[in-house]
Amino acid sequence: MAGNKTVLVVGGGISGITAAVEAAEAGCKVILVEKLPYLGGRVAQLNKYFPKLCPPTCGLEINFKRIRRNPDIAVYTLAEVVNISGTAGNYNATIRVTPRYVEDRTATSKCVEDCPVEISNDFNYGMDKTKAVHLPYEMAYPMNLVADRDALLKVQGQAAYNAFIESCNAKGIRIDLDAKPETFDLEVDSVVWATGWRPYDPTKLDKLGFGVCTNVITNVMMERLASFAGPTKGEILRPSDGKKVNNLAFVQCAGSRDRNHLPYCSSICCLASLKQATYLRDYNPDAQAHIFYIDLRAYGRFEYFYDRVRNDEKILLTKGKIVSITEDPATKDVILEGEDILSGQKIRRTFDMAVLATGMQPNTSLEKIPGPDVQYDEFGFVISDKGIHAAGVTKRPMDVGTCLQDATGAAIKALQDTVGR
Ligand SMILES: Cc1cc2nc3c(=O)[nH]c(=O)nc-3n(C[C@H](O)[C@H](O)[C@H](O)COP(=O)(O)OP(=O)(O)OC[C@H]3O[C@@H](n4cnc5c(N)ncnc54)[C@H](O)[C@@H]3O)c2cc1C
Repeated sequence: MAGNKTVLVVGGGISGITAAVEAAEAGCKVILVEKLPYLGGRVAQLNKYFPKLCPPTCGLEINFKRIRRNPDIAVYTLAEVVNISGTAGNYNATIRVTPRYVEDRTATSKCVEDCPVEISNDFNYGMDKTKAVHLPYEMAYPMNLVADRDALLKVQGQAAYNAFIESCNAKGIRIDLDAKPETFDLEVDSVVWATGWRPYDPTKLDKLGFGVCTNVITNVMMERLASFAGPTKGEILRPSDGKKVNNLAFVQCAGSRDRNHLPYCSSICCLASLKQATYLRDYNPDAQAHIFYIDLRAYGRFEYFYDRVRNDEKILLTKGKIVSITEDPATKDVILEGEDILSGQKIRRTFDMAVLATGMQPNTSLEKIPGPDVQYDEFGFVISDKGIHAAGVTKRPMDVGTCLQDATGAAIKALQDTVGR
């Protein structure tokens, strides 16, 4: 019965990918729309994921294979849904696709080295640079180059740019900065919305030193710092001077459970910091990690992960609220101040580097779904469950395993919408 049905899945993170393959394998046609030039979402940027601590490619590659092999899934990257009208079983969706501005006819995706322009590398959260014509990351799906049009336009016509275009032509790669975005309409039976989350903006935490102290980074940046494909090739070095980190602080609930920022708990940040403490200990066995928390939350089956990590005597846990981070101007060390909740003593400790455990903010808190009958809670998570079905972190903070279950549920609801139309 599902054979004639079409499901539009918006967001190509782990939740959207899961909903897409589950719906397609149940017999639907699926259109998967992703805003970025690649699938995988935030999971693709993790170094390893708990509880098994395997690299994200383990889970993603299997799903990319399921997509690649399934002719019923059409993937649009650099694409967004502009509008959705209609009702369940009978939606009309308008999709806009931005060009990649580069076509690699050899499909070897290797032309980037002689590109004369460098841009900030968003995949590594701006911690290094990449070429303006680049592969988004080494395991990207689709494995296609993408060009930053605005960056290239600034040098268009200059000798270095002309030489680059010539070398591209010789390699079978065509740059076309005049390519135009395309907009088209689709009739779909059902919609799954899985646009996920963004890290809470750390510059809003004005006492915690992000952007002021060179050696204060966020938890998502820590994932890239520890990754072999990251800005330091997996070496955990502090940004100010490239020194090997020996003494690292994690500041939990950075903005979370705080009515001035994100009043809710993102549920995974404690586990993420416990995991990241193991990155440091694996990299540098002499190093010490110190986690400052309000309440350490390792829910359900993750309790054993917490137990395992806390048995390491070089991973210290202090129940304490950090209220300020400053920088020693001479050494660039970071100075944490706050209160030890159990002893009532003041905390004043110096570290090589600090990681702010910022929470997950739903993208739907800032970009609403352009469709009918969607309801949100006060934080911007989707709470309605009729018509457009939300999946994954669009609904609430959750880990990858829970996203898989939730997205499978959303796919089943999408089938139920459409069956019997
Ligand atoms: C520091 C940190 C470490 C973590 N480590 C782990 C871990 O070890 N194990 C674990 O289980 N979980 C971990 N998590 C949680 C994990 O990252 C999330 O569970 C997961 O990313 C949720 O996937 P998602 O698909 O719902 O959202 P996302 O990963 O955010 O994917 C959403 C996708 O939608 C796209 N999108 C956004 N807006 C639009 C739009 N308008 N149109 C089209 N596409 C759009 C995005 O580009 C993205 O590709 C961690 C989280 C943090 C903060």
